[in-house]
Amino acid sequence: SVNRIPVKTHKINRKLLSTGAIKTTEGLQKAGFEAFIVGGAVRDLLLKKRPKDFDVATNATPEQVNRVFRRSRIIGRRFRLVHVLFGDETVEVSTFRGSHLNDDGDAKIADSGRILRDNVFGSQEDDALRRDFTANALYYDPSSEDVLDFHHGYEDIQAGILRMIGDPVTRYREDPVRMLRAIRLSAKLGLKLDKATEAPIPKLADELQEVPASRLFDEMLKLFLSGHAMESVKALRQHGLHHGLLPLLDVVLEQPMGERFVTLALKNTDERVLQDKPVSPSFLFATLLWHEVLTAWQQYQDNGERPIPALHLAMHEVCDIQAEKLAIHKRYSTTMKEIWGMQPRFEQRSGKRPYALLEHPRYRAAYDFLLLRCESGELPMELGQWWTDFANTDGEQRSAMLQPAT
Ligand code: ATP
Ligand code: MG
Repeated sequence: SVNRIPVKTHKINRKLLSTGAIKTTEGLQKAGFEAFIVGGAVRDLLLKKRPKDFDVATNATPEQVNRVFRRSRIIGRRFRLVHVLFGDETVEVSTFRGSHLNDDGDAKIADSGRILRDNVFGSQEDDALRRDFTANALYYDPSSEDVLDFHHGYEDIQAGILRMIGDPVTRYREDPVRMLRAIRLSAKLGLKLDKATEAPIPKLADELQEVPASRLFDEMLKLFLSGHAMESVKALRQHGLHHGLLPLLDVVLEQPMGERFVTLALKNTDERVLQDKPVSPSFLFATLLWHEVLTAWQQYQDNGERPIPALHLAMHEVCDIQAEKLAIHKRYSTTMKEIWGMQPRFEQRSGKRPYALLEHPRYRAAYDFLLLRCESGELPMELGQWWTDFANTDGEQRSAMLQPAT
């Protein structure tokens, strides 16, 4: 049964909705369909946060939605969605669908408990039931300004609780990524995980191994760029989610130096995100994997490789291992390798080489990376300071800084 919450109770300010969200719901309603703003945006508005984007749920099929809006296209394979475009805003429209049962009432769930198909249209009630958390299953109707609540999500938000809809163990088995979403959303939104939602996570952690690497990567990227990466990573650790499945964090966080380095990098990232400054995923992943590179680099040198070839062997090895578990896209790994590969060049402070390094297109990222290495105690602060000064002077003063050739 549905609980209708009127605007005088929930107090969502209609002015905070995007133009695209209003035009999409109005367009669909005029064409005779039901349409609501759903999910993260409603939740964020209730929490007095600015929504990142607006999703719309409707009883119109993707083809029907497509016919209502001239500037729209159907996308997606696993389940089909419609993107409706308004200027630079894209509104994602999904048709109400069920998840647990198909049209015949048969469960369409594999023996492992994982969802096989997720594409069966359903009622609004079905649509609410297939969502992950009660706070994510709220529907806002811009014309009546009511919020429709099927799972007491409104009360949970008021109480500051993130609660899984249905039986948490079953829902995590269906889709283990929900464990990562639980951690990320609770950190980002400042919601406390409900006891029953939290309790089974450590026991089910291994299920994440079954998740395709590309999906894991997308989810980890969201987590690292949430503005609450540090808190999320701590929570992942507390819940045993960093072991095995995320080699990235596994090794790194177990060594004190590595932990210090990652902590600095994540704090830095969180500050930038919260100030709306751009963050480079390549830089971030380069920091997260650096101590694995360092370990492998040392091993190759111990086996008689010269330093530079040893570094390159180590870089490739680390990237290959990560590629298996966490599909770091090539466009990121190329930049990561550049940032790593430039590090030894900062130790050369004589002749023409420092000038050439300053001109490198990746100098800025590589220099920021060097500073993190200094701050974490891996290198003397003096080296980072030298480069800061070298870049800030010119002419004779600059050449006077150079060290005698050795
Ligand atoms: P964010 O603020 O990160 O965008 P969100 O909750 O909006 O958070 P989306 O990935 O944009 O996350 O998903 C939109 C909605 O789809 C969610 O609010 C939720 O209702 C539903 N959803 C997303 N992922 C899942 C999942 N794995 N299982 C069930 N429902 C999901
Ligand atoms: Mg969203």
